[in-house]
Amino acid sequence: MKLPGIGPKTAARLAFHTLNMSEQDVAAFAAALLDVKRKLHECPVCCNITDRTPCSVCADTGRDGRVLCVVQDPKDVLAMERTHEYNGRYHVLHGAISPMEGVGPNDIRIRELLQRVADSEIEEVILATNPTVEGEATAMYIARLLKPFPIQVTRIARGVPVGGDLEYADEVTLAKALEGRRQV
Ligand SMILES: [Zn+2]
Repeated sequence: MKLPGIGPKTAARLAFHTLNMSEQDVAAFAAALLDVKRKLHECPVCCNITDRTPCSVCADTGRDGRVLCVVQDPKDVLAMERTHEYNGRYHVLHGAISPMEGVGPNDIRIRELLQRVADSEIEEVILATNPTVEGEATAMYIARLLKPFPIQVTRIARGVPVGGDLEYADEVTLAKALEGRRQV
């Protein structure tokens, strides 16, 4: 029940299932859980979660070091990678600025980002934080801090989801889609 999305019923079902597993499988499962805690850490370069130093993306010399995509969570890196459209590098913030939840700029990896931009040959920073109030505020905050650097700062486009129907899009999404229109 300490895991997200697991209520008392599911927890009981999983416990009974564990009872029926072979001792070998249970041992491997327990060891894998411990590995998560003992072997995974933040990449010293991009702050993504990894079992290597630096992580596989940072170590990959085939990737474009001039483009940096800033995301909120390690899960966002996986989502971006699934598109197979991006060949730059990443920076994981581990959250977004949220005064309501007591998360300030110093609580996420903004300092590390600025240091990285100052130290390397980055030419473009893509702000790919979530299109939420917190994500937008974080993107704006970072954009302001990056102003003094001679680089391009971009924000991912927002709009109507693929396969979606205009009729069902909410006003904010539709307004953003209109705002982000481009020539065809
Ligand atoms: Zn890395």
